Amino acid sequence: MRVVQLGEGTPEVSVVGGIHGDEPCGVRAIERLEADEPDVKRPVKLVVANERALERGVRYVDADLNRAFGADTPEDAHERRLAESLAAEIEGTTALSIHSTQSHADPFAVSDGRQEHVQTVVPRLSVATLVDVEEFGGGRLFAADADIVEVEAGLQGTETAAENAYTLAREFLTVMDVLPGDTVPREIPTFRMGDPIPKPPADEYEVFAENFQEVEEGETFAAADGDPLVADESFWPVLLSPYGYENQFGYEGEPAPNIGQSPSEGANSTSVSSRSSAQ
Ligand SMILES: [Zn+2]
Repeated sequence: MRVVQLGEGTPEVSVVGGIHGDEPCGVRAIERLEADEPDVKRPVKLVVANERALERGVRYVDADLNRAFGADTPEDAHERRLAESLAAEIEGTTALSIHSTQSHADPFAVSDGRQEHVQTVVPRLSVATLVDVEEFGGGRLFAADADIVEVEAGLQGTETAAENAYTLAREFLTVMDVLPGDTVPREIPTFRMGDPIPKPPADEYEVFAENFQEVEEGETFAAADGDPLVADESFWPVLLSPYGYENQFGYEGEPAPNIGQSPSEGANSTSVSSRSSAQ
């Protein structure tokens, strides 16, 4: 793990990249922020999490770091110890954790929409959607004692994802009053994350459905070795891809009340009040 601080004092804000070693976009964003040497109004911690997995270009070494914040991960796993160090490093901060995905090119947030910091930050980021994970916190980074916003910055390994990650990080740092400037909230379409969609054993998988677009009952949404998989009830796919996960295609989602508000609903006063509540 590599930790860099910008500014003096004890940071209450952090940016985390490289939770997964095959998602370099967050690390690229952090390196760019370091190179910028910006004049910060408040200190911020920049954390490159899983350096060993990044070096090897793999998602993880022994266990998924984003699921390793619990007792289910073996004690001798590299990521179990790393999870403990990372949790200690970001404790007490509002943190942006940057990921990328095989499922969807447009940036989206994956966070607990009930939490106040999520309601403040996410509508001010360039994300198309919020995936509201609600109680999915068990064993995840959300279990750390920090206020976390997770974003998916785009498709894994692409220049666009690296560029998006940098934009999202700068927007986050502006909302958090680390960087100067204003942000305006928008209403963000929100989907509640539901059950995982398991993959039957097969050598080849295909996905036909678009993420965040309704799959109707009876529609073929994927295939395993050419065998069609048909929806037995309608759902909105979330994080759906052929090979993004080992044992599942992704998740079933359903539309939820949108977070954020339209700019006509007093955006000026909102950005001022969120600024003071962030400090
Ligand atoms: Zn990830």
